[in-house]
Amino acid sequence: MSDLNLSDLKLERKECPKCGAVWMNGQHYWRTGAIGSDLDLAGLVCNNYGDNTCINPLKGREGGDTWDDRFVDLTNDFADLHKKMNDEYEKD
Ligand SMILES: [Zn+2]
Repeated sequence: MSDLNLSDLKLERKECPKCGAVWMNGQHYWRTGAIGSDLDLAGLVCNNYGDNTCINPLKGREGGDTWDDRFVDLTNDFADLHKKMNDEYEKD
């Protein structure tokens, strides 16, 4: 145990000055501590809110999660529901 050389343990922490995203040794973590993905982060945050100070290596890259993907089902369901309600109302 005493041979463990802690000086070999390096923790490189980078924080994006723009969106506040954090990378530990190159791995992105969400604020919750969950392991993130550079691509999802780009789609959700950096592509919309980042500027040239954003350090996400995949900023500007498409293909990750986007809010559109996450909410499109919800929006469609709501539009359908709303239309059904209108149709019902007009029948009477
Ligand atoms: Zn960023």
